[in-house]
Amino acid sequence: MTDRVPGFDTLAIHAGQEPDPTTGAVVPPIYATSTFAQDGVGGLRSGYEYSRSGNPTRTALEECLRALEGGVRGLAFASGLAAEDTVIRTLTRPGDEVLLPNDAYGGTYRQFAQLHDRWGITSTPVAVTDPDAIARAIGPRTRVVWLETPTNPLLNIADIAAIAELAHAAGAKVVVDNTFATPYLQQPLELGADVVVHSTTKYCGGHSDVVGGAVVTDDEEVAEQLGWHQNAIGAVAGPFDSWLVLRGLKTLAVRMDRHSANAAAIAEQLDDHPAVSEVLYPGLASHPGHDLAKRQMRHFGGMISFRVKAGEQAAVDTCGRTKVFTLGESLGGVESLIEHPGRMTHQSVAGTALEVPDDLIRLSVGIENVEDLIDDLDQALRG
Ligand SMILES: *Cc1c(COP(=O)(O)O)cnc(C)c1O
Repeated sequence: MTDRVPGFDTLAIHAGQEPDPTTGAVVPPIYATSTFAQDGVGGLRSGYEYSRSGNPTRTALEECLRALEGGVRGLAFASGLAAEDTVIRTLTRPGDEVLLPNDAYGGTYRQFAQLHDRWGITSTPVAVTDPDAIARAIGPRTRVVWLETPTNPLLNIADIAAIAELAHAAGAKVVVDNTFATPYLQQPLELGADVVVHSTTKYCGGHSDVVGGAVVTDDEEVAEQLGWHQNAIGAVAGPFDSWLVLRGLKTLAVRMDRHSANAAAIAEQLDDHPAVSEVLYPGLASHPGHDLAKRQMRHFGGMISFRVKAGEQAAVDTCGRTKVFTLGESLGGVESLIEHPGRMTHQSVAGTALEVPDDLIRLSVGIENVEDLIDDLDQALRG
């Protein structure tokens, strides 16, 4: 062994996961326990007292997430939205404002517009593709600039480094929802963001068998406050869910390579397809965020959105005709999924500034044989 900093794929398999000290088990056990025996009052054997405050399986996951995002602390939650809620309660107070992508994940938008708003935290939608617009939108009450990149479902790309610089100059923190890219494809903390959030339900878990969330920060003070809020709110990841996400992370690098390669090939095919009017994929040279994505991402990821020429009903019918792609919400699993954002994942933003085109189809490209995926889409589009 050298003193070299371990590579991402090595950390994904080993960070936080020393063989179990009592048995030598190479995989961290699922510590299905709510409480821990004490040696005399206040005498903790291993630092654990109660599993909301801390559980060894969750600690293994949190340490792995921390290492992969390059932060000082990782925290695991019961869902992505639970993670987001904890971040906002940590970073804001009534009267504060948050800038939000104008095509944010629908559930994120709903949490801000309908929940945080009630407690006096206002949110303002902005175009994350335009740093100048963000600079103009930042006001004295702006505490947080919330970014997604690529965005869901329009695959817009935000310049994390440029936005972090202008947000910090105005005294605001930058939170990046890194769910679509994953730490393998994009490292927001290194680019200047303060906090990264994930729905680990998606690529981190990677097998569509768990709902979870994560937060990583490289700011010691924020880390301390996040830890307090995680325990006070209590929306923590359970031991079994933590174990599933930890297992998923081991193969994150190889899965993302394959998701990205498959998606790139499919995007090219769709781009030439007679039934398709527009393909939204940052890997295509025609995508407005292509050069930026090339700078700040390792590959372009597994998500593609596209519009069909024949309109909404044709888009809905196409989604119903695929045989390898499963019609369903969510994303980031090994199996390919297809959906109609307007009527499914993004129904909650209908009639708002965040409404998506009704002829839009979103793909979560899995790691199946790419020819099978291409043929399947072609027959579905031809009808
Ligand atoms: C799914 C998702 C979320 C919400 O995560 P849950 O685990 O479903 O609570 C947040 N952001 C993005 C980008 C997502 O795709």
